[in-house]
Amino acid sequence: MRSISVFGITGSIGESTFDLMMRAGGPATYRTVAVTGGRNIARLAEMARALRAEIAVTAYDDELPALRDALSGSGVAAAAGAQAMSDAADRPADWTMSGIVGAAGLMPGMRALRHGRTLALANKESLVTAGALLMSTAAAHGATILPVDSEHSAVFQALTGEDRAAVERVIITASGGPFRDWPPEKLARATVREAVAHPNWSMGQRISIDSASMFNKALELIETREFFGFDPAMIEVLVHPQSIVHALVGFRDGGVMAHMGPPDMRHAIGFALHWPDRGAVPVARLDLAQIGSLSFQAPDEQRFPALRLAREVMRNRGLWGAAFNAAKEIALDHFIAGRLAFLDMAAVVEETLARLSSDLGLQIAQPTLQDVLAMDHLARVRADEAARIRQMAV
Ligand code: NAD
Ligand code: MG
Repeated sequence: MRSISVFGITGSIGESTFDLMMRAGGPATYRTVAVTGGRNIARLAEMARALRAEIAVTAYDDELPALRDALSGSGVAAAAGAQAMSDAADRPADWTMSGIVGAAGLMPGMRALRHGRTLALANKESLVTAGALLMSTAAAHGATILPVDSEHSAVFQALTGEDRAAVERVIITASGGPFRDWPPEKLARATVREAVAHPNWSMGQRISIDSASMFNKALELIETREFFGFDPAMIEVLVHPQSIVHALVGFRDGGVMAHMGPPDMRHAIGFALHWPDRGAVPVARLDLAQIGSLSFQAPDEQRFPALRLAREVMRNRGLWGAAFNAAKEIALDHFIAGRLAFLDMAAVVEETLARLSSDLGLQIAQPTLQDVLAMDHLARVRADEAARIRQMAV
């Protein structure tokens, strides 16, 4: 019986993973080791009970009594805090879902890789923040990383059985989010409520806002570069409002393999769950006749500067990804709190990178985990300063 841990089970990716596990028989099919969440204790306990997990962990120490209470009599152990989270990642599991949002997802993923396990990686921030380190850790310990971001799962699938040397370009698609056609004047006044209303995908609040600002696609460009190792000049973004084609891989003979599927993350999660087999996944089947037409357009880097900034990060690597992601996370916190205007998020990230780039530390060729964590911290401080100055200027 395969053993599984799910980090961030109470989130959008976590719920979809749980759904697939339960439909496949739950505890009759999988031995669940650890499940983790945040403050949604009732749901965390409910899922841990349903899967008969060994242990449930909340990220917050003060939630431990509530979690213990909710799990009493279930046989599921309860734990809380950062140390418990990494201990949970050390527990042996064949397959681990990294479904935490933000740089906080890096640590459990790194631990699973050090144990040579299979890591289903939804947490794109890990690859953006510490791509080289993550990939080399996986290689050194014989671990496998399976991309779960829909575009990257699509590229992975399109590349299966192909000669990597024959690849000419990789194209990841973007729906364009809710603000695809908004003029800059309107973008400047965009609210959190408007930004989370994604036209095609149902996702967590943070990634939904990142989709509206195109920061999500910026992270995904970097993710593509780090995971597949292709030259940045080979990686493109294509706006595709219907979100049916998730990625395309072009070969030197002019042929292009496109991956299609409904906009439902359970496809990419299910692919990783069943890999290397193709198991049955209960997503809606595509009805192209009903959809009628698919459309494509070039992205607008003027209105969405996140893409331009991502190009800089892809070229420079080193600690640029760690700085970029951390600055973005802080800018997003300020936007969500109503302290920063929508377009100022990109401005804060750009200013933070500009300030930090004069620091030679960003150019490190082979950053260690310590280097990454130090830069993550420094960039958060700098981005917070930049955001507060802008906020005062509003
Ligand atoms: P979410 O906000 O819905 O859920 C996040 C999960 O992480 C929750 O379980 C939460 O309790 C936990 N969490 C949050 N902060 C934490 C912290 N500091 N420490 C420990 N746990 C913490 O997020 P989501 O939409 O499910 O996204 C998860 C990851 O998957 C993100 O990296 C996102 O970019 C990526 N992703 C999501 C989707 C999607 O459709 N939702 C698609 C592709 C990639
Ligand atoms: Mg994606």
